[in-house]
Amino acid sequence: MALLEILQFPNPILRKKCTKITEINKDLRRLADDMCETLDYHKGVGLAGNQVGYMKRIIVIKIPEEEQFRVLINPEITETFGIREVEEGCLSVSGYKGIVNRSLWIKAKGLDMKWQKWKIKADGLLAQVLEHEIDHLNGIMYFDHLVNHVKGDWHSGLIQLEQESK
Ligand SMILES: [Zn+2]
Repeated sequence: MALLEILQFPNPILRKKCTKITEINKDLRRLADDMCETLDYHKGVGLAGNQVGYMKRIIVIKIPEEEQFRVLINPEITETFGIREVEEGCLSVSGYKGIVNRSLWIKAKGLDMKWQKWKIKADGLLAQVLEHEIDHLNGIMYFDHLVNHVKGDWHSGLIQLEQESK
């Protein structure tokens, strides 16, 4: 396993749309393992393919209340309900956070690493992370959803975090 470099905005790759995965092979399995390791290292909750320069539809998620990593292939949101304001950050936008509008709950579907179909209805943090990571695959950044965002100025509406010692 290896740690991967996480691309930082405004790297143009983060605005590109990822294409569908057509098969699971050894390389993809290795990438998935590396993405999980990278996510764990940075203590994040989710990571999308293009954040590590891989232009296909794979995301990994690890939320604190779950033991296992979720590795999701070709995920898509099929239904959303409601709206709520939540605090959010992104491993590709270091040093900032913001308040965004997210759904109360969502339904999503896709494939797992065994090419089995899955479907989920999620709320809370899991719903938020699914929306955030699937957005990445479509070239959408979380600050696009900021309540007080000015288009064309990506810093606008973001809150700068205090420098943390690492
Ligand atoms: Zn992100």
